[in-house]
Amino acid sequence: MPTKKFILSEQDIPRAWYNIIADMPNKPMAPLNPATKKPLAVEDLYPIFAEELCKQELNATDAWIEIPEEVRDMYKIWRPTPLVRALGLEKALDTPAHIYFKNESVSPVGSHKLNSAIPQAYYCKKQGVTNITTETGAGQWGAALSLAAKAFGLELAVYMVKVSYHQKPYRRSIMQTFGAQVIASPSMSTKAGRKILTDHPNYQGSLGTAISEAIELAMSTPNCKYTLGSVLNHVSLHQTVIGLEAEKQMEMAGEYPDVVIACFGGGSNFSGITFPFLRHKLREGKEIRLVAAEPASCPKLTKGIFQYDFGDEAGYTPLLPMYTLGHNFAPAHIHAGGLRYHGAGTIVSQLKKDGLMEAVDIEQLDTFKAATLFAQCEGIIPAPESSHAIAATIKEALKAKEEGTKKCILFNLSGHGLIDMAAYDQYLAGDLSNYTLPEEEIKKNISELDKII
Ligand SMILES: *Cc1c(COP(=O)(O)O)cnc(C)c1O
Repeated sequence: MPTKKFILSEQDIPRAWYNIIADMPNKPMAPLNPATKKPLAVEDLYPIFAEELCKQELNATDAWIEIPEEVRDMYKIWRPTPLVRALGLEKALDTPAHIYFKNESVSPVGSHKLNSAIPQAYYCKKQGVTNITTETGAGQWGAALSLAAKAFGLELAVYMVKVSYHQKPYRRSIMQTFGAQVIASPSMSTKAGRKILTDHPNYQGSLGTAISEAIELAMSTPNCKYTLGSVLNHVSLHQTVIGLEAEKQMEMAGEYPDVVIACFGGGSNFSGITFPFLRHKLREGKEIRLVAAEPASCPKLTKGIFQYDFGDEAGYTPLLPMYTLGHNFAPAHIHAGGLRYHGAGTIVSQLKKDGLMEAVDIEQLDTFKAATLFAQCEGIIPAPESSHAIAATIKEALKAKEEGTKKCILFNLSGHGLIDMAAYDQYLAGDLSNYTLPEEEIKKNISELDKII
């Protein structure tokens, strides 16, 4: 297995996160208060999130935001992460393309999510908050936040999407091991959960519903804040440590990527690896393509519409301008649980609208085929989510071969799949199928959106 690694040292861990909004030609449109339909003031967010995170969320002027020393110290547990040249995969594809991946799977919980869990827990603690709530899909965000909450002495309640709660019991065990309380969503513990269970008793849950439950609990509990693992601007901000490190490592490799690829759930790992590179395009006009790889069963960027919509099922969140399939959208039960979300973050949505990035949709079987090849060539079993980026990378590499062009591809390996082996089992047994979202279903969901604004 021939590989080549590019390793940074501890002092190379970034000292500031990159806030791309400061450099965007068209800033994202303002989030709206759902009651008044007026743009949100930063204070409107204070009841939900830690104040410092609210300020980061709406900061449109500072391109660099200092990373607190306490957060950098925690990052040192596993950062900087390696950049790897995937020589084995290149050889198997017989492509002239050079393929690099940033390996975020080496974090203690196996994914990039810890990059934002740590600062979110830190800012809550600093403000004197004692309890936090969140939702989790496949369990990756919940696992990351459980570790971060314990590190900063916070009590955590996690609403876990029911289908994952049963399909991925080990993620639940990880959260419980770190001391978090885990509740299958929809649950009877909130108004939002009770309503959906009364209407649809067998509902297997969605991120949108779990978010509603977690927000409701945070709003009705004293000294308690809600946290979110993707979609929001401050989450994308924290994840830029990925791309900032990768930028230095590509320099060490003596190359610059023609295309940067990441899988796409709400956009945090995509933002994390691509925004630092996009800054070269925005500031210096550098040629670079950015590609988001999303599941064909949840294609908000490729088939959704740009529209104000809620971030959650019950409509508790502010109205966000985003590419969406509609907040009532219930995605198919694919194995990439982390990609089952109806919308895209507002920054990415604006970038997509302005033609500054691209998106592709990938069928489930193609992701497992790509994952298996990658595992055999590189010795790492990728998360089903990350496998979307690998499948998109393979397409780019094969296109380069067809065209006989040399191309440099960088993708983000957002996590490993060692806790997702049940999904691999089903793939190996031939029990998985593709699920492309029918146009009619997209139209129906989206038509209901017009009533919101
Ligand atoms: C959560 C998750 C994703 C998707 O979330 P984004 O916010 O779009 O990055 C992708 N990969 C892994 C491993 C995840 O845990």
